[in-house]
Parts: sequence; structure tokens; C-alpha cells
Amino acid sequence: MVEETRSFDQQTLTGGFNDTKKRLLRYILLHRGVCSHSSLLNALRALEQDEVADEVGGEVNERLDLILKDINVNLSKVGYSVLRCYDRYGDRCYAYIDVGQTAETKLATTFNADELEYVKWCIASFMKSGGIVHDVDDHGSRVRDAVDDILERASSSSQRRLDKVVSYTEGSLHLCDYVALGASRAEELLVKLCKLKWFYRTAGGRVGLDTRGVLELNEYLSREFETPQCCACVSTTLSGVICSCRRSAWHVACFQHTVVHLTQECAECGQSLLNAFYLD
Ligand SMILES: [Zn+2]
Ligand SMILES: [Zn+2]
Repeated sequence: MVEETRSFDQQTLTGGFNDTKKRLLRYILLHRGVCSHSSLLNALRALEQDEVADEVGGEVNERLDLILKDINVNLSKVGYSVLRCYDRYGDRCYAYIDVGQTAETKLATTFNADELEYVKWCIASFMKSGGIVHDVDDHGSRVRDAVDDILERASSSSQRRLDKVVSYTEGSLHLCDYVALGASRAEELLVKLCKLKWFYRTAGGRVGLDTRGVLELNEYLSREFETPQCCACVSTTLSGVICSCRRSAWHVACFQHTVVHLTQECAECGQSLLNAFYLD
């Protein structure tokens, strides 16, 4: 996790990294391990004003790809990687991930045994909530807005809205009702997990697994629970769209590609994706 990696960062980055690579990686770490594509591009542009003699040519996007590839060659020696991925809303981002340890080991390096049990209990609560299908409420949501935009563009009718939602989240009040730790310690841990970008908390006080948490815990999640798997990129997704048959799901970005370029029907059950559920 980011807190642990800072110390290794200071030692390791002195060798094998030029200044641009070192600063870019530090920039991602300063964003607590998850940084948007546009922010990282801007950071690279800003850095390059100081480093005219950049050894890698080409457009800035291509340069960023090449630099990250190089960074990953160095990071792979110590079991870390910068992954190109999408955030909960379908925007491109980069996540700094520990690929060398199991989820349990990762968690155990940051939390003591009681806290670790609590984190697992929270995750089990999120997964349990995901088993229920709700009617869509009137509260706004960036994920639903992003899905609505895609549906509007994909279908001929003007306003497409899905009626149902499946949510792998739990209310923070419920998550603080954990006798073994007590409410204030539980709340402190929730704040810490959100800072680490493993969890997120909505304005309405619901808590769920954030982009980094899903990526870091992907193997644990699919081993312990029946998490929705994105049928486009074959990885766990807890934000986006899920078919009413529950056997097909998509990240926001993957849903866009699917309905615009590939198909508007679920490959598993043949139903129209325009009648699927939000995953939010
Ligand atoms: Zn996907
Ligand atoms: Zn289906």
C-alpha cells in the first residue's frame, strides 16, 4: 500500500530511473496511488519544460506509455506495477499496485489482526448488499449519469434511464456498528481505508470498494465471493452496468465500447442491455 511504499520509493528510485520517471512515479504516489490520465499527461508536459533533452520522442501520449513501460520494468523487480485502468466513472487512470503479495498479506502489513478482520467484514458486507436489486432513487450519481449518457447515445430515444440498481456498498452507520472494535475505531479505519483509496464514501454516507481496492484485492474477491466480472475486460467490476440475469457485467468504459461498437444484447441471456441494472 502507498504508506509502506514511500520508504522503498526513496531507496529504489535512485537507481534505474531518470528524473522524469522518478518524478512521475512520485506524482502518482502523491495522489495516493491512483492518478487520472489527464493529470499525469499534464504532469509530464510540465516536467518536460525542464527536460528538453528527453530521450524518448513522439506524441505526449506515446511518450507517457513508453515512460510507464520503463517504470514498470524497474518496479517489477520489487513486485509493484503501475496499471492503466478506468476509474468508477469510466475515466482513464493509472493505479500503483502491489502485484507481489496476496490480498491477505497486503492487508496484514497495514492492519493488525482485529483490524484485518474488520476490513474483511466490511468487504463481506459490500458483497452481501450486492445480492439485492433496488429501485433507482432520486439521488444523483456520477456512475448513473455516465451510464445514462452512453444509453442516450446508443439508443434512438432521447432519455434512457435504467429502473433498477445493484449496489456493492454499505451505509457507514452500519459499518461502524462493529462490537469488536467499537464505533470510533471503526470510523477511524474507514477514514484510513478511504485515504488509501481502497474504499470510497458517497455523499449519502455509503461506503464501497474503490478502484485501487478492487484492483489490489481482485484475486481475493473472485476467490471468496461471486463478484461480477466485466465480460469485456474479464476483471472484477463493482461500478457500471449489470444485466438482469446477473451473469454479465461491464465497467462504465467497457459498457460504452460494447453498446456503441459491438452489441446491445447480453451474450448470456439475449436480453437488451437497455434494460439492464446500474451497478453503482
Ligand atoms: Zn471492463
Ligand atoms: Zn443477461
